[in-house]
Amino acid sequence: MFQFFVRSEKVNNGLACITGDDYHHLKDVVRLKEGDKVRISIDTGENYIGVIEDFTEDAAIVELTDKAADTELKGKMTLFQGMPKSDKLEFIIEKAVELGVTEIVPTMMEFSVVKIDEKKIISKVERWQKIAEAAAKQSKRSIVPQVLRPMKYKDAVEYAASNTINLVPYENESGPKGTIELLKAVKPEDSVGIFIGPEGGFSEKEIELAREKNMKTVSLGRRILRTETAALTALSLIMMSKEE
Ligand code: SAH
Repeated sequence: MFQFFVRSEKVNNGLACITGDDYHHLKDVVRLKEGDKVRISIDTGENYIGVIEDFTEDAAIVELTDKAADTELKGKMTLFQGMPKSDKLEFIIEKAVELGVTEIVPTMMEFSVVKIDEKKIISKVERWQKIAEAAAKQSKRSIVPQVLRPMKYKDAVEYAASNTINLVPYENESGPKGTIELLKAVKPEDSVGIFIGPEGGFSEKEIELAREKNMKTVSLGRRILRTETAALTALSLIMMSKEE
């Protein structure tokens, strides 16, 4: 079943209007017809199954027939991803959204080799956001996770300060026993931040700052994982700890 995100002002008397790019996608690309069922998430947090009733010039009208289950984890899960090379970030965004991430913050770290071109940043973030939206539809999320503008590591640490807990998978941390203990303590409603180093890993200075701020350095096992594997492993572990 196809999924659409609709703003509450487009919902009236049990009818939702699908407009814009979504309308064209629905009508011209996947060619849904009157009578076809769709899943609708409204930005109020409500989710419905609906039936396409009618097509107007610029909208598909969907009658909301049944409530649908919420698919979101409680509490936030934010990925602070050390800026990796080229299209790796796009892969990470897609998969992180499938795993239930709430927010992704591309984070400029000391060993990030990619430097951000300020002139291109707006279009890049727009592109990343589109990838997040497509993944959210595919995995039937109830919200579209946000990709924020890239932040410097120090600013990201500050931004993360309000989380219940911040985990820093660190390649030089020993033994995964401590990780298991920390994961056991995570409650579904907790806001969890996850910091992942880029290909070159974390610098010692970055780890020092993390520990100063009471962020928890953890091991993801005795093998070195690539940055994308580490991000998805950490998210999977937290996802399962947050499930009820
Ligand atoms: N270049 C480094 C590895 C960096 S891996 C080296 O060769 O040692 C990129 C990031 O993935 C790391 O900064 C860390 O955040 C995460 N990571 C990879 N393997 C890990 C592990 N076994 N435990 C915890 N974090 C790990």
